[in-house]
Amino acid sequence: MTERTPAEPTPPPPPAPPVPPPVPEVEIVSEMTAQALFDKCETLARNLWWTWHPEVHSLFRDLDPIRWRQLDHNPIALLREFTPERLAARASEMVLHSRINYHYRRLKEYLSDRRRTWGKTHANILGALPAAYFSAEFGIHESVPIYSGGLGVLSGDHIKSASGLGVPLVGVGLFYSQGYFKQQLDLNGWQSEEYLETHVENLAMEPAKDPTGRPVTVQIDTRNGRLLAKVWQLHVGRVELYLLDCNVEGNRPEDRELTSRLYGGDDRIRIRQELVLGVGGVKALHALGITPGVYHLNEGHSAFAPLEVIRERMQDDGQPFDGALRTVASQTVFTTHTPVPAGHDRFHGGLVEEHLGPLRDQLGISYEQLMGLGRVDPQNPNEPFCMTVLALKVSRKANSVSQLHGRITRRMWAHLWPWREEEEIPIGHITNGVHIPSWLAWQMRQLYDRHFPEGWIYGMGEPEPWQNIHHVDPGELWETHNSLKNLLLAFVRRRVSRQCRRRGEPDDVVEAARNLLNPAILTIGFGRRFATYKRATLIFSDRDRLAALLNNPERPVQLIFAGKAHPKDEPGKRLIQNLANMRRDPCFKDRIAFLEDYDINVCRHMIQGVDVWLNNPRRPLEASGTSGQKVVLNGGLNLSILDGWWAEAYDGSNGFAIGKGRSHVNDEITDLRDAKSLYEVLEKEVVPTFYDRDADGLPKRWIELMMNSISTLAWRFSAHRMVMDYTRTMYVPAAGGVSCDMDRR
Ligand SMILES: *Cc1c(COP(=O)(O)O)cnc(C)c1O
Repeated sequence: MTERTPAEPTPPPPPAPPVPPPVPEVEIVSEMTAQALFDKCETLARNLWWTWHPEVHSLFRDLDPIRWRQLDHNPIALLREFTPERLAARASEMVLHSRINYHYRRLKEYLSDRRRTWGKTHANILGALPAAYFSAEFGIHESVPIYSGGLGVLSGDHIKSASGLGVPLVGVGLFYSQGYFKQQLDLNGWQSEEYLETHVENLAMEPAKDPTGRPVTVQIDTRNGRLLAKVWQLHVGRVELYLLDCNVEGNRPEDRELTSRLYGGDDRIRIRQELVLGVGGVKALHALGITPGVYHLNEGHSAFAPLEVIRERMQDDGQPFDGALRTVASQTVFTTHTPVPAGHDRFHGGLVEEHLGPLRDQLGISYEQLMGLGRVDPQNPNEPFCMTVLALKVSRKANSVSQLHGRITRRMWAHLWPWREEEEIPIGHITNGVHIPSWLAWQMRQLYDRHFPEGWIYGMGEPEPWQNIHHVDPGELWETHNSLKNLLLAFVRRRVSRQCRRRGEPDDVVEAARNLLNPAILTIGFGRRFATYKRATLIFSDRDRLAALLNNPERPVQLIFAGKAHPKDEPGKRLIQNLANMRRDPCFKDRIAFLEDYDINVCRHMIQGVDVWLNNPRRPLEASGTSGQKVVLNGGLNLSILDGWWAEAYDGSNGFAIGKGRSHVNDEITDLRDAKSLYEVLEKEVVPTFYDRDADGLPKRWIELMMNSISTLAWRFSAHRMVMDYTRTMYVPAAGGVSCDMDRR
């Protein structure tokens, strides 16, 4: 699909030939330059490639630093406030011309050079038939609010790495006009949620066009009427992302709001959103003239997609249902993320029939047959329809997102294959990773550039370049880390004082926030969703022991927390409230900060500046986790339960482990044990190692751990490694029509 996309950004017009001068010549030339300069900035802003190039961020920021921050780092919104003339004037003042030209040229070269990529040599088979990556959310940048958390950021990182590697892939998702909520805490520490309407004109998004140039709208029939969705297109480097949006004329008023919010509704809204994502997504690709070679379902939300593909096959090739199912399954791969049975989407038969009924008619299957596809036991009329079961039955291969999660997942679904041993359950694992250029601080990137071989960034998913970290001067690494830590503390002070002012706290509290935290103190960060299993308040289990840690006169500790609770998760909100209130306890002496509204921006600041990243979920409920992988890149150390990715990452000298990787059937006992272990590791390992300084004031052993962490983990838990794994083990075999093991169903 790569070469034929009709809606690629039109390149800006070449500089016009000299025109005979009706007015003084100088003026014409400068007018031309102003417009051309503006168009180049516009082109840069309209491809989300800029989001993983900090030097392009700083270019936009230099146009107007204050507005840049106020506008949530959104270059489209920023440029709308400029005329070409004002932009040109500002560019002259700040000497930006050559930077604009340089980055514009880099983008153009990047987009046109698809021949020398890893994908060209390893995934050529996808060239004409790309992988279609379906996900309910995509987290690409804070200015594109169509994500809620980990799953979305993973999808964003996946398509960015596919772009970087040149793996032919298109993304399919939903456009949420109100995205996820903005979080604020009131004076009682209670979370309130605010939904803001996103202005479409402020997004790097345009109507997707079919091969004849007409905007694409798809329609999906249900038993009680028709749903329409229009399709938007975003350019993410070399990857195109298509988003379906139900806010179109012709839909009933309540349907126009169907895709306004992420995970906002009841079962009925959920199944309708999933219908639009799966069935609508396949119809959209068809209308766009894109024929995928592989369908990748990222989590079960999109599991209806293969049913629509089966319909296409039956219609185009005249295949019967069973044959078409086998063909489509051999082209479909599925990633599951949820280690608890209750976390999987399940719908009752009435909702399924209402929404899939018309498609079922076209597939020529009975209600019982359809329901059977979503049941472990097809004959059991009491079993609801499970999206994960459907996904497992209509895909050739499934994977979980870490080694440990693989074991849990195989056990969880073993009853789908009662004739097999647990190890033979066809669910593998590909551990999640992060898109390095998006999460790596500019200062660290420069340090790596100075010490790693030229062009190392192209091999960032391989171990070799990273071994050079051991030759870096410890002082240089330490200084770089500390400059990032200072940036984080400045960010915390700015944010927290603003939060206090908004809540109407007394002036002295606002003033104190301006001096919150101390760069010399060991700083531990905890940023994640406040779901109870993540146990945000575990470290508070023993108040006196924590107070002693934080207030140790020689070796103090400070904590930064951030995270949202799902709007319907009362226990999660109570955790936030507890934390907000405990934070004020005088025994902790202002050593604790809470940042509101955790998002990609807050996360980026935290993972780039902390000394230690704390992760203490109840094992084995964290399928993978990725925030700790972002910390690695920037020199922070992980302190984590041996769960998710950390269970396979920790080697004894690249960070810290809480507990021994065991869990008790009784949660209370598990929590007590883990809290005890957490305190012990902090008191005996983390704190002493951090404060053990040599004659130059450097924590030698700590810096060694930083280097080990970077050299052993950065490449292994990168999205580049992850996408290469998906390509080799899932996409290429699926696109090659290599037959799959059908005995599974
Ligand atoms: C990376 C990221 C996550 C995922 O991190 P976990 O370790 O799974 O919690 C969640 N939210 C945001 C905003 C992120 O950037």
